[in-house]
This record gives sequence, C-alpha cells and structure tokens, in this order.
Amino acid sequence: MRKSVIAGNWKLNNDVKATKEFLFELRDKIKDTEVEVVVCPPFTSLSTAVELVKGTDIKVGAQNMHWETSGAYTGEVSGEMLAELGVEYVIIGHSERRQYFNETDETVNKKLIKSLKLGLIPIICVGESLEQREKGIQKDIVTKQVISAFKNVNTEDAKKVIVAYEPIWAIGTGITATSAQAEEVCGWIRETFVELYSTDVAQVIRIQYGGSVNNGNVKELMNMPNIDGALVGGASLKLDFENLVKY
Ligand code: 13P
Repeated sequence: MRKSVIAGNWKLNNDVKATKEFLFELRDKIKDTEVEVVVCPPFTSLSTAVELVKGTDIKVGAQNMHWETSGAYTGEVSGEMLAELGVEYVIIGHSERRQYFNETDETVNKKLIKSLKLGLIPIICVGESLEQREKGIQKDIVTKQVISAFKNVNTEDAKKVIVAYEPIWAIGTGITATSAQAEEVCGWIRETFVELYSTDVAQVIRIQYGGSVNNGNVKELMNMPNIDGALVGGASLKLDFENLVKY
C-alpha cells in the first residue's frame, strides 16, 4: 500500500522570519496525519525549517539541487549541502525551472541520480503545456519526460522516487485538472513504470498531482486510484494547509 504524500512548494516565498512564524503555528497542528507532509521552503529558509520541525511529523524538502558535489558553479547548491542540513526531499525539474532556468530532461536525470545516491527523496515534476494538451500530445510529452528522467536508475532506487504530474496550464491559474484528467495521466505514468521496470515497481512508486490544488478539490483528487498525493503551491502558504493535508 502506498503512503500518500502532500508537499507544499513555497516557491520564492517566505524569508527566514516568515518561515519561523508560519512553521511555529503549523507544526503543532500536523500530528499523526494519514499522509506524509513535506514543506519545501527556499534555500535560505531550509535550516530554520529543519530546526523548527524537529520532533514533529513535518518533513523538509528543497526546491532544486545541483548534481555536482562542489566546483565552479556560481549560484548553485549541491545535494550534499542539502543533506548536511537535514533536508530529506528535493523537488527536481519543476516546470518553472524547465521554463525559466533552462532545465532539460538530461539535467533532471543527472539530479535524480545524484539525489538517490545521497539518500534524498526526489520529487520529479513532469507535465504538458496548454499548447501540447490542445494538440492532444500530453501522453507523449509526459511519457518522454518520465523515461528520460529515469534513464540508468535501477529498480531499487526507482521505488523511492515520487513523481509529480503538474500540467503547466493548471499551475497558479486556478484551473485544476479534473480528477478524471489527472487520474488519466497518472495512470499513464504508472503504466510507463510497468514497461520500464515491472508491475511491482509501478505499484510502489508514488505519483502526485499538482496544479491549483486547494481544500475544495484535494479530496476528490486523492480518491483517484493512481493519485498518491499532491504538490501544492499557493495553498501551502496559508495555515489552512493544515486542513488540506487532513482533507
Ligand atoms: P499552485 O498550487 O499554486 O497551482 O502551484 C502548483 C505547483 O507548481 C506546485 O509545485
């Protein structure tokens, strides 16, 4: 049985002060939830977040990492640096990073392999644009992204990965994919894992939906058989996130 995981992607929000205020309130409200709860603050707030959630049921993730350990890569942060802080998860290949920071399927693959080597739990983001959906090629796009991301990832490692299906047209737009649309693509992703690995592996990998998830739609999405959680942007910045994770 897969344990669902709901992660809040704070994006470029919450400095150290705001992180302290927010998590100080949130941490006592998240106890014994059925789902795994993760918050992903910006880099500068990570160590504060890790300290604040110690001894609670909230886990901390980063929003990106570099695949190299160290070197002349100005502005980058390595997975080792995240692990050193006590960060346990890392979002990789978010569509905003692919769109604004030139991340490619190849860099996503390198980051995935490195995160697994370090024992970080990667959350691999995939998803089609509006234009691609209108052309009806969403299955091809998402399948290609998944196959590229998992290149040279062995069976045991693959089982540890979380995949987030985030259709770009649903991110920050208030337009959520219907539960049927989200389930359809998450089902295709799982089928891809059957082909890449085996039915057993496909049954273990957790697949989240992301894109305008809120308190009103989370339950229906979570009830879908192939959806094992949510990657939440805007709605994870409010204390009401408590009710979202307890949907
Ligand atoms: P919103 O929930 O704000 O649409 O953002 C989704 C997202 O990009 C999470 O990674």
